[in-house]
Amino acid sequence: MFARETERSEGTVGNHLRRAEDKLAAAADAFAAVAEPVDFLEERDARSTSWERAAPLAPATEIRQLNSHAWLLQLPDGSPHVTALLRRQGSYQGWCDCNGWEYRDDPASPCAHLCTLRQGAFAHVETAEGERLQVTEASATREPVTDGGEFVKPAAGADGREFGRPEGQL
Ligand SMILES: [Zn+2]
Repeated sequence: MFARETERSEGTVGNHLRRAEDKLAAAADAFAAVAEPVDFLEERDARSTSWERAAPLAPATEIRQLNSHAWLLQLPDGSPHVTALLRRQGSYQGWCDCNGWEYRDDPASPCAHLCTLRQGAFAHVETAEGERLQVTEASATREPVTDGGEFVKPAAGADGREFGRPEGQL
């Protein structure tokens, strides 16, 4: 067992990264499951900081596609972030690993990375792979999360927040 560990030690980081990339590539549904409704129109009309900071066309912006719903995105003045954006029943839904998204005041307020993806798709921006940036439709209903065959309710409200907005506020 230890011998095998030793044999594999060379290039372990590279192997690990490749496995992580494989898992990310297969995780489109997982990103779709955590995405929440975002309101770009309000963001644009308010000319918010996030909307103005978005820079899909800046030469220093890097956009690399991870799977059909997620990208690795780095703005000229920031760190790389994993950002997911998709459409569901005609609305945009998103998720990001940045602090701007995690600590947003308005649940529907997208971060600068989400605004970059939205603007980039509109402006026909290409990703690092030379593919056109496209926001694709996810299945109408959230993928049920299964655990040993049993349906597990999404953790809505588990941390005091709720997924999306109540029907009356749509
Ligand atoms: Zn973000």
